[in-house]
Amino acid sequence: MTDSPAPSVSGQRAPVGVDPTRASIARVYDAFLNGKDNYEIDRAVLKQVQEHMPSAQELAFENRGFLIRVCRFLATQTDIDQFLDLGSGLPTAENVHQVVQRVRPDARVNYVDNDPVVLAHGRALLEENENCRFVAADIFDPKAILENEEIRHFIDFNKPLGLFQMGTLHHYNGPRDAPKEMMRTLIDALPSGSFVALSHFLDPQNEHSTTARDAEEAFLHSPMGSGTFRTHDELLELFPGLELVEPGLVRCADWWPDGPQLRPLTSAQRCIAGAVGRKP
Ligand code: SAM
Repeated sequence: MTDSPAPSVSGQRAPVGVDPTRASIARVYDAFLNGKDNYEIDRAVLKQVQEHMPSAQELAFENRGFLIRVCRFLATQTDIDQFLDLGSGLPTAENVHQVVQRVRPDARVNYVDNDPVVLAHGRALLEENENCRFVAADIFDPKAILENEEIRHFIDFNKPLGLFQMGTLHHYNGPRDAPKEMMRTLIDALPSGSFVALSHFLDPQNEHSTTARDAEEAFLHSPMGSGTFRTHDELLELFPGLELVEPGLVRCADWWPDGPQLRPLTSAQRCIAGAVGRKP
């Protein structure tokens, strides 16, 4: 394939979907997580990044662990019972609705993604669950998300909600400052008492910085073509107007881990961070 994909509304590449000759973000993430829904071209991205960061798969496992712990936290420690999960990815173990509905069976989860494979698998998984929706939309176009009728029909924006932006914004290839504005637009639209959870590749600005930047180069020049690492200060800008829940913006591995960390952290574990913020 030599033709360029058509740009979407936000100027990003159109989703790759089922084309097995092009890597898709969702399928590459599935390959990182040892899933089965990926092609050779997706696994090639993993191999390229592993050449610079052998522990690269832990970027995905740490991200996923953070997501699951955040779901459990919000379901048990807050009254949030509606969730908007932007860039949900292919169904895997412990999806958002499975974690939160274990605690709150009536919790509503609106998944959003633009990858046709994700939508097909997601809808198949959720056919029986009336408290879940899968909506096809461009998550890097926040106005379109906020005006989307399917989402507004399912999520009540007059009531606090949980907004997830997990492992997504580092795949935005437009202007470096744009994610900040995207988050501001989304957060402005949330009612007081809402929670926002976000995870993102981190440049730790220490002796592991070179590995982060090498991995970034590998991602950007891979068949997937995205994977930006941001510094702690840059990531803090993605939570405008929010009060961060303890312990604030930290490596995902350090956000209320399930147990003590006995082994030294790998490079990958040092290069992905996340936080949860509450809108006052
Ligand atoms: N949030 C999940 C998690 O943390 O486990 C999955 C993260 S996965 C790395 C990123 C997801 O974002 C993929 O499923 C991809 O299809 C989706 N995505 C990327 N760009 C998107 C866009 N412009 N609009 C909608 N979804 C997008």
